[in-house]
Amino acid sequence: MDDGQSLGVGTIEQRCAACGAVAVVSVAQSVVGDRVAWSVSVRCGQCGDAEEQCGWEEMPGFWRDRLVDQEGLTRLRVDRESIEPMRVRLLSVFRRQGATIADAVEAVESLTGVGLFGTPAEMKLLATRLTGAGAFVSLTPGWGERSDRAGNRSG
Ligand SMILES: [Zn+2]
Repeated sequence: MDDGQSLGVGTIEQRCAACGAVAVVSVAQSVVGDRVAWSVSVRCGQCGDAEEQCGWEEMPGFWRDRLVDQEGLTRLRVDRESIEPMRVRLLSVFRRQGATIADAVEAVESLTGVGLFGTPAEMKLLATRLTGAGAFVSLTPGWGERSDRAGNRSG
């Protein structure tokens, strides 16, 4: 496996579905071309049970949550002054991603305010699309790190 372009690689532990031992779960997303690819790999060292899942675009919510636990969220914002002349183009970026008009308007509003949040790979792809539409974007990784979660980490 070529990890050259991967972003948001995380390692998580969960109970093996087959034997109940602690299995190692690897959750990853990466930007490939103009899409987000994701993969989930579960491997049990106890019984050897292994499961692989992969796909494009939207990751199953359960696994995406695990990835966010691991990686935190990345915040994407666009400079408010820069947005006005290209508002329609930015709206079309969200419309092409399947957003309704109302959702697209709300997303563009959020970009200049609190920002939009997603996994590092999701926001990197969106940043690329918005930059292509002429926007000046800024990405802030590690936004979702919560102190109560960080406290549970070893290392
Ligand atoms: Zn097992």
